[in-house]
Amino acid sequence: MRRRLIVVSLLTAVALLAAGQKKMPKPSWPNFFSKEQDVEMGREYAQQIEQQMTVVQNKELTDYVNRIGERLVKQGGLDNYPYFFKVVQEPSINAFALPGGPMFVHTGLLKAADNEAQVAGVLAHELAHVVLRHGTHQASKAQLIQIPAMLAGAVAGGTLTGQLAQLGIGLGANSLLLKFSRGAESDADLLGSYTMAKAGYNPIELARFFEKLEAQTGKAGNSKLSQFMSDHPNPGNRVQAIEGQLPYMARGPYDAHVGDLKKMQAIVDGLPAAPKKPAKGQGTQAQGGTPAQLPNAQKPAEVPISSTTKSTQTSGMSISYPSNWQETSDQGSLTVAPAEGRVQSFIGYGVMVNIAQAPSGQKVNLEQDTQKLLQGMAQQNSGMKVVEQAQQVTIGGSKALVTKLASDSPYAGTKETDVVVTIDRGTALYYLIFVAPEPDYAKLEPVFQQMTRSIRFQ
Ligand code: ZN
Repeated sequence: MRRRLIVVSLLTAVALLAAGQKKMPKPSWPNFFSKEQDVEMGREYAQQIEQQMTVVQNKELTDYVNRIGERLVKQGGLDNYPYFFKVVQEPSINAFALPGGPMFVHTGLLKAADNEAQVAGVLAHELAHVVLRHGTHQASKAQLIQIPAMLAGAVAGGTLTGQLAQLGIGLGANSLLLKFSRGAESDADLLGSYTMAKAGYNPIELARFFEKLEAQTGKAGNSKLSQFMSDHPNPGNRVQAIEGQLPYMARGPYDAHVGDLKKMQAIVDGLPAAPKKPAKGQGTQAQGGTPAQLPNAQKPAEVPISSTTKSTQTSGMSISYPSNWQETSDQGSLTVAPAEGRVQSFIGYGVMVNIAQAPSGQKVNLEQDTQKLLQGMAQQNSGMKVVEQAQQVTIGGSKALVTKLASDSPYAGTKETDVVVTIDRGTALYYLIFVAPEPDYAKLEPVFQQMTRSIRFQ
């Protein structure tokens, strides 16, 4: 079993509609990262992106996109970040900004825009995500316990993006850093449209372009759009929301014009074919959400299990384990395993203990949150399947579920048995994953059962 935390998202987005002038959105709590860490992270991810995608070198085209971006930043009075704007040769209609400022605009998006204001609308919307720090806010919200622990231990070495990859956070499909909630979308539209007006672009074009893309997404066979629309879900009534704010925005004329979009589209058509590279987020390392390469280690003939126990505590929970096993704490996650059971970043024998907090004001839903956890695990562990459906039990006085899985073991040619115990503690889901190679599971089962029975909560 891969020894790394699983993202359990217990969140639902609520969009609120208000009349009159809306308050300008601000970066929201929680965000455990500093602005400097946003910048550091964005710089590291940008390097990965530039290796994976083809950055267009045509000066006329990149200068044009930069003039639009810089105009929005300067005249819009946006917070100071080391912004840059690069065009990447991709036919899909997409653009994305990384935390701390780097932005990549697909050639497909430039082709799809009807006018310069629509290009500016996407850039302004993306810039708003950067300024409002939505990416690191979402990561913080999803991992309330793990991220502060990770940042506290950040001296342990490695890059920030490497540490995030350990938490399953990267730039892969549906990345927490790039996939926004409807609430974040409304906020990005709001700040983005005010920014456009200040820079002399008609803010309605932002909504018009998004709605045009939305309408095209519905058409059969249009796969050019799917990632953009799934990363930026429609908060509803985009046009009306911006129209309602027009009286409060910088007055026109909205006639900003920094170049000839038609000419830029002709340049895009004339670009030489891009060399084939792996798609964004599909690299073999430092990317979340994909199964890791298994080490294929030699399975030990036997692991020692002493008959005496000792006990440990994590976040208000105590558990006893064989006294010759060792406990390690890593980024808020506790692992108890014999030395022979640890293979690189994997556990071949042992147990991992983690906690996922529900968002403030919300409660754990044991069945649903267990399903989400299992789905997250399936993405990270090759060949995983459920072999015994969840059974209800009581552990330490709390309602719990026990689910038995099979997956590939870090030991060569071996399957493993994983028993996932999820415990409903009201505002937090505690989960334990017991791991043993399938041939040895019967021998370990009584040990695991004894450990489970020893669990107490304060
Ligand atoms: Zn968005």
